[in-house]
Amino acid sequence: MTNAPRTPNAPRTPAAARAPLPAATPVGYPRIGPDRELKKAEEAYWSGRIDRAEFARRTRALRDETRARLAELGLTGPAAIPETFSLYDQVLDAALAVGIVPDRFADVLGADGASSADGTIDLDGYFALARGTAEQPPLEMTKWFDTNYHYLVPEIGPDTDLHIASTQVIDLFRESLEGGADAAARPVLVGPLTLLLLAKAQDGAPAGFDPLDRLDDVVAVYAELLARLHEAGATWVQLDEPALAADQRIDPQGLAALLERAEGRLASAEDRPQILVTTPYGGIGDLLPGLIATGVEAVHLDLTRGEIPSATQLAGVGRTVIAAGLVEGRSVWRTELPTAAARLALLRERVAEAGGDPGAVVVSTSVSLQHVPHTLERETDLPADLRATLAFADEKIAEIVALAGSTVVPGSVDGPRSVPRDFAGVRRNDVRERTAGLTAADLERSAFEVRGAAQQSRLGLPVLPTTTIGSFPQVAGVRRARADHRAGRIDDAAYEQAMREEIRRVVALQEELGLDVLVHGEPERNDMVQYFAEHLDGFATTAHGWVQSYGSRCTRPSILFGDVSRPAPITVGWSTFAQSLTDKPVKGMLTGPVTILAWSFVRDDQSLGETADQVALALRDEITDLEAAGIGIVQVDEPALRELLPLRASDQDDYLRWSVDSFRLATSGAADATQIHTHLCYSEFNEVVDAIDALGADVTSIEAARSRGEILEALDPERFSRGIGPGVWDIHSPRVPATEEIRSQLSAALDRVGEGRLWANPDCGLKTRGYEETTESLRHLVEAARTVRERAAREGAGLPVG
Ligand code: GLN
Ligand code: ZN
Repeated sequence: MTNAPRTPNAPRTPAAARAPLPAATPVGYPRIGPDRELKKAEEAYWSGRIDRAEFARRTRALRDETRARLAELGLTGPAAIPETFSLYDQVLDAALAVGIVPDRFADVLGADGASSADGTIDLDGYFALARGTAEQPPLEMTKWFDTNYHYLVPEIGPDTDLHIASTQVIDLFRESLEGGADAAARPVLVGPLTLLLLAKAQDGAPAGFDPLDRLDDVVAVYAELLARLHEAGATWVQLDEPALAADQRIDPQGLAALLERAEGRLASAEDRPQILVTTPYGGIGDLLPGLIATGVEAVHLDLTRGEIPSATQLAGVGRTVIAAGLVEGRSVWRTELPTAAARLALLRERVAEAGGDPGAVVVSTSVSLQHVPHTLERETDLPADLRATLAFADEKIAEIVALAGSTVVPGSVDGPRSVPRDFAGVRRNDVRERTAGLTAADLERSAFEVRGAAQQSRLGLPVLPTTTIGSFPQVAGVRRARADHRAGRIDDAAYEQAMREEIRRVVALQEELGLDVLVHGEPERNDMVQYFAEHLDGFATTAHGWVQSYGSRCTRPSILFGDVSRPAPITVGWSTFAQSLTDKPVKGMLTGPVTILAWSFVRDDQSLGETADQVALALRDEITDLEAAGIGIVQVDEPALRELLPLRASDQDDYLRWSVDSFRLATSGAADATQIHTHLCYSEFNEVVDAIDALGADVTSIEAARSRGEILEALDPERFSRGIGPGVWDIHSPRVPATEEIRSQLSAALDRVGEGRLWANPDCGLKTRGYEETTESLRHLVEAARTVRERAAREGAGLPVG
């Protein structure tokens, strides 16, 4: 295929394919099913309870119900429904659509009998990449932009054989046609540029290889897919390019050039559906003219995070359709429609000013609705006044349909973006007085050296102390007791009894293993954020509000709608009970303000920093109560610190300031002799190491098992000066690490950071592990720490080592 010359905006597509883009259409829709049907089908299939045919039947039924539901909500006509179903992950789907399968998985290609070079992936091959096999770990999983959704990282090399390895996007389109021509879906794929910007070089790729080196090859396969979709009768295809909304390793000029090479080349193809390029998760600023100039028929803009473009930015808009993402797709707040209608009118004016057709503006969501639950309809237990201000996926679709229908009377463009919330609990004077009275002194503790001495004389810990991250395996009995208690099948006393038994068991096990700092094991927590949300004022929890976190994994985020305060101590009873069972120190266990915000749906009527401070004060009071009850170590987990980092470098300083401050506010009320720990679990430690240092925790444990070298690098005493526990057991895998393996990691870390600062711990909580592997692994960890400790003691005493 050659890059044929073309006139921007001249229709090149045949008449049949020139159907207009529907006036209202979302970027995407949840795919897990209102009752988590996808998760249930997957788990049944993986465990062998159902076969492939039954799995196919169930997932087909889910898609049919989804299509029927969306049509009912007003998404009718060809291309109105974006086909965003995925069996696991949309990035994996796009990678397979163009054949990005790493060499280490070569054997899953061609499972259908074709040669591996042009083979296709079958269902088990697909899940092998997503979940790993006995021989191969799965593709790495990481967070999708600044959300809590995780995608699978494609691995590509200079010789990866690119070809259509999965026809799913075509198959699903054909499937939609079975509902009649009017039900024809709009096929959706992650776009070529985003796909390669999110990909990494496969192991063994030559130094200097960048996945973007394969852009032209990848685009050629997209062109082939587009041709096949066109042939199948698709009038529109959607290419998602969220990478345009984030700062990338290449500058904006470079990005614009790549856009022209990718989307421009696709647009110049003859046989293709019309192309809608979406740019969710933020504004794309000055990349817009370049995107318009590629000649794609429609461009979607996130107008909740991004501004309404100026006429200059819309230069050349001509016949290009603008899909206005006016309804926030990742929050649960109901859109204030008059404001959105006014913004829509302003956009139309700007389009007209730029010489375009104002009538060609359609209404959309800012991002895919995959980040919100299916429907509010079933949440009948929510307080009515709160419920009246909420919108989940279905309700948001109704909003875009309403905005497109021109029945909404426009208000002011500067009006509130969401329906104002003004009912009991939203604003509390007592909470506001406290945050207003905060001063810089509230964020300060004494010097680290002073605290360190006080803590050491109180705790008397050995060199290289051993500990865990907090949770212990959540065995069936514990989960059942929690569920029974919630459902009222057992009373408070029976529940308390069951939890205490578990705590007793966990403490006894840790004593037997010889750990130095113990935990109570967190059996009472369903989830580290929801547990606190349930015990703080200002939050509401849903009954069915599930959201996909990755694959079959779903979470039920709480809704933070009002001023946060703590009606009563939350964790003190469990921690002090555990402490009463042992002479070793028991670590109190709290979730930090940033993580509580990141994993909840947060109010949009004040800054995140202000909300974080309210949460921080509640945690600060909890720490005071823990101290008063005799707890000498408190861990405040912040695993989401990196996740909320803004996508634009220019916004990052402000974020790091308020997030670090909220942690300091939560922890700075602690006495010198109280040791504050924190835990972070992601591997991009280097990116935020200065912020981690600024948290000021006495001890920080981090996930390190998967990127050891890098972490050791970052543990430069110049940059990070306090206690540190690089995880030495990767708890994400059932593998038991050998004592020697842990010992060598600890030795290397000790050489780097020196004794007195190093801790030995797993890299995350043990909640998802079994007892057998946990016991064995922790035994190895304690043994390894002892050996290294002895070495250090001999060295210290000037004795021969080795
Ligand atoms: N304390 C929590 C636990 O152990 C930390 C979990 C996490 O880092 N995500 O489960
Ligand atoms: Zn963790």
